[in-house]
This record gives sequence, structure tokens and C-alpha cells, in this order.
Amino acid sequence: MIEFINVSKVYGETVALLDVNCYIDASELVFLVGPSGAGKSTFTRLIYREEVPTRGAVVVDGVNVARMRRREVPFLRRKIGVVFQDFKLLPDKTVFENVAFAMLVTGASRREINRRVPEVLEMVGLADKHKAYPHQLSGGEQQRAAVARAIVNEPRILLADEPTGNLDPDTAWGIMELLLEINRLGTTMVIATHAQQIVDALGRRVIALRDGQIVRDQLQGVYHAR
Ligand code: ADP
Repeated sequence: MIEFINVSKVYGETVALLDVNCYIDASELVFLVGPSGAGKSTFTRLIYREEVPTRGAVVVDGVNVARMRRREVPFLRRKIGVVFQDFKLLPDKTVFENVAFAMLVTGASRREINRRVPEVLEMVGLADKHKAYPHQLSGGEQQRAAVARAIVNEPRILLADEPTGNLDPDTAWGIMELLLEINRLGTTMVIATHAQQIVDALGRRVIALRDGQIVRDQLQGVYHAR
């Protein structure tokens, strides 16, 4: 589903990723760990083509996105949902409108939106908050809304860049359980995280980056090498 082949990314003097190779299969869940500056964000940004590699190929669903034409990028983005640490909700839109907006930009009809948005809000546990604005929600609720927006178009891949970084531990667990549920339904998932306790408790695949290189790739992994 996602393959990095000899991928390097250089920003001026800084080597963000150096000759990275890895394969992530459909329906897998991968935790991407490593200290700040290790290259985790760069790794995720290359997958949805927010960045282009300096060298190498990033193959997503059979297509080398490094070589993709600009006009093809929107089609890639429909296959990929993204969740950020700081939620990135539109402040002047309600929860319903934030989620609906992701469908509107793909050309969905009002009828499809009115069917699908309540369904996905129900799934993330926000059905009763559909009229609320982001500032009226807790951090955990805002992240649930952001997850709803990321999955409303049924992407094959969900990328999350420190999705629990702004949340207290209990709320973080709630968001991680929601992401696990989405993965169980078949969505391939890459989660960059510093949530050591959660990574250690779940025992899922862990790819550890340091100084732009993969230093560990374990199927039943933990946060720190033992
Ligand atoms: P992480 O997500 O693990 O904290 P990043 O991928 O954000 O790591 O960053 C990896 C390295 O690349 C860091 O040294 C960072 O400063 C650098 N970097 C990331 N993005 C840019 C950019 N747009 N311009 C210059 N340097 C960058």
C-alpha cells in the first residue's frame, strides 16, 4: 500500500530523511516513533505529497507520488485522510460543516453529505455536537471531529501526526481507541507519536526513526528498544 524506496529528503543543509526503505501493507497499523527532528513529519508528508523526496520513490497504492503531476494530487488526497496534533478545524464552521466541507470539495451532493456526515459523527461519538463550533468543544472532541473529517470520504489510508500530542492521557486513549477501530475496519494507518505508554500497551508494528534513518522496524514493537 505504501512503499519507500531509497528515499532521501534534504532541506538546504538539513537531511530530514536518508535512504529510507520500508513497506507498509494494506490494513496495517504502524506507529512511527523517534525523537523530535527524527523525520517523522517528513515521512508522513511525503506520503500525501505535501513534500516531494529529493531522491527515491514513494509508492502509494501503486503510484510513485514523487513523480505525480500536480493535477493528479487531488485524486491521491482522496485516498488519504490526515489528522494533525492541532486538529486544524475551521473555526467559523460547525462540526457538521467542518466534516461536510471535506465532502463538498470532492463534489459530493447535498444528499450524499446529509446521509454520510451524521453516520461518521455517530461513529466518532459526536452525534450530539454536530451544531457546535470548535471553540465550544474539548480538545478530545475537536480531535474526534478532525478524525471524522479525515475519514468521511472513506480513505484507504489514514495518516496521523502526533494525534494525541495536545491531549491528556485519558483523552489520548480515547482517540487512539477510535483510530484502532478505524484500522480494524480496514484502513491502513501510519501514526507518528510520542505516546510511549500507548505504543507499549498495544504491541503493534513500530518503525523508529533517528536522524532521518530507520533504526528499528518491529512487528510487535515497543517505544524504546529493549
Ligand atoms: P519530526 O517530525 O520527527 O520531529 P521532521 O520531519 O519535522 O521531524 O524534521 C526532520 C528534520 O528536517 C528536522 O531537522 C527539521 O528541522 C527539518 N525540517 C523539516 N521540515 C523542514 C522545512 N520545511 N525546512 C527546513 N527544514 C525542515
